[in-house]
Amino acid sequence: MSSFSFDLQATDGRARTGVISTPRGEIRTPAFMPVGTAATVKAMMPDSVRATGADVLLGNTYHLMLRPTAERIDRLGGLHRFMNWDRPILTDSGGFQVMSLAGLRKLTEEGVTFKSHIDGSKHALTPERSMEIQRLLGSDIVMCFDECPALPADRDRIAESMRLSMRWARRSRDAFGDRPGHALFGIQQGGLEQDLREESAEALKEIGFEGYAVGGLAVGEGQEAMFSCLDYAPEQLPGDKPRYLMGVGKPDDIVGAVARGIDMMDCVLPSRSGRTGQVFTRRGVVNIKNARHSDDPRPLDEYCTCPACSNYSRAYLHHVFRAQEMISGMLLTWHNLHYYQEIMQGMRDAIAADTFDTWQKVFHATRAQGDIDPL
Ligand SMILES: [Zn+2]
Repeated sequence: MSSFSFDLQATDGRARTGVISTPRGEIRTPAFMPVGTAATVKAMMPDSVRATGADVLLGNTYHLMLRPTAERIDRLGGLHRFMNWDRPILTDSGGFQVMSLAGLRKLTEEGVTFKSHIDGSKHALTPERSMEIQRLLGSDIVMCFDECPALPADRDRIAESMRLSMRWARRSRDAFGDRPGHALFGIQQGGLEQDLREESAEALKEIGFEGYAVGGLAVGEGQEAMFSCLDYAPEQLPGDKPRYLMGVGKPDDIVGAVARGIDMMDCVLPSRSGRTGQVFTRRGVVNIKNARHSDDPRPLDEYCTCPACSNYSRAYLHHVFRAQEMISGMLLTWHNLHYYQEIMQGMRDAIAADTFDTWQKVFHATRAQGDIDPL
């Protein structure tokens, strides 16, 4: 098996389950990708990330190009070896984070120039340079370089930006070249405008990609608006290729996106929240810093098999969070990533069994109960 392929195995309503095959291993879909921004999923060892059930990680081009640089990672054997993760890696194009993090941005037809948020040094990203960086990193799934305005934005701005991104998608495809076993994904834009989304999907299909992302969502529009867009956007994209919703989300966002035909997602939320004491459980969000947990001998979730829930009390997790011990971020991140992967496995099984509606009802009803009562 040396090529990249997607095998759609079952559907239930608009929800899909399947397997993406890559030379570095299979990705079961729907898939949640933990974010390894700076060549690490913060507070986790790679084996631990794998133990949660993750098949694929996301790496950030913007962060890695600035530090330690793509050229250095290439000299050291590529990102997989550098960070000791031998399974698939998807890298973003850098475009989104240039827009959200960098200073003094200047956008032209050619690309974007900006100042590093780390040391103020000047850099440029173009479709060609983004493809080169992602190749140096050794990424298995490469994203087209694109641009997207924060929402709300006026329709003219969204249309102009989408058409620029489609011209960049063509340049990304040309610069990517012929790389067997590696995939290039196009990114649909168009904000919340159905006809612009359609125009974008048509432009991408004409170029042809191994997978397609729904971009430009989860940028402040809210869940209701995002779901309205997902009611049509995924189905504008080819059904025989993976569909990736970028930067989503909370557990109920993920379930709603899968119900609307999305196959892949990524988000920093489970790992970032693990470091700030916010825990996602079957029964909703728990804030471990809350004093109600200080004498509580019970686990976070009695049904969870992660190390935090198997071996530690809420009282311990509360204590180490308050004492700012590193094990706090380690245990809570592990739990959150484990819970996210458990959701994905549950959805994959339910879609394959044609019971996704029932699964969703149980998911929502369990969350609605809220956390267990204080002692
Ligand atoms: Zn747990």
